[in-house]
Amino acid sequence: WSSALSRCRTYKVLVIGDSGVGKTCLTHRLCAGQFPGRVEATIGVDFRERVLDVDGEKLKLQLWDTAGQERFRKSMVQHYYRNVHAVLFVFDVTCPPSFSGLLSWVEECRKNSVGQDIPRFLVGNKGDLRDPKRTREQVGQEQAISFASVHGMMFFETSAKNPPLKCVNGQRASSKGSYQQ
Ligand code: GDP
Ligand code: MG
Repeated sequence: WSSALSRCRTYKVLVIGDSGVGKTCLTHRLCAGQFPGRVEATIGVDFRERVLDVDGEKLKLQLWDTAGQERFRKSMVQHYYRNVHAVLFVFDVTCPPSFSGLLSWVEECRKNSVGQDIPRFLVGNKGDLRDPKRTREQVGQEQAISFASVHGMMFFETSAKNPPLKCVNGQRASSKGSYQQ
């Protein structure tokens, strides 16, 4: 079994975005199936893996959970983008600065992936904290959808914490079965 797994195709997925948006919790949830009780700030990069069964074939997702702080990135950044299969740009829907901060992450990606056409996804995390009475203090889905379309990304709203709402380009999927562990 382990040798079969080591042979299966590995897809490198880079997870980027400002500190505190939930990159570590999201990757933990995807790979360990639960919201972590406590998380330490990421230093450099952490790797988590998840094996998926797609049409009877096993694929390995290798998630690169990176630190948001500039000081940890300088020397590493080129490694992050080498042979990457997809990039997740994560922001916190309750924190507009983390949404504006995405421009610099998009720019980092552009600079480091010249000539590569990498599928990119916009992930609005902490959907469980949305408060309908405070829409002005949050990042609206229309805003996110428009950012995603300008930058050629697909948008998902999610939550690492609670079995979440999932929105694909603004269409709210039914909560049942929309999030597959
Ligand atoms: P990172 O710096 O992007 O890796 O962010 P972390 O994963 O370390 O999360 C930062 C904080 O946000 C932690 O206190 C988490 O418990 C919290 N958090 C992360 N994701 C969610 C979420 O989906 N919902 C809620 N309510 N809190 C979250
Ligand atoms: Mg982290």
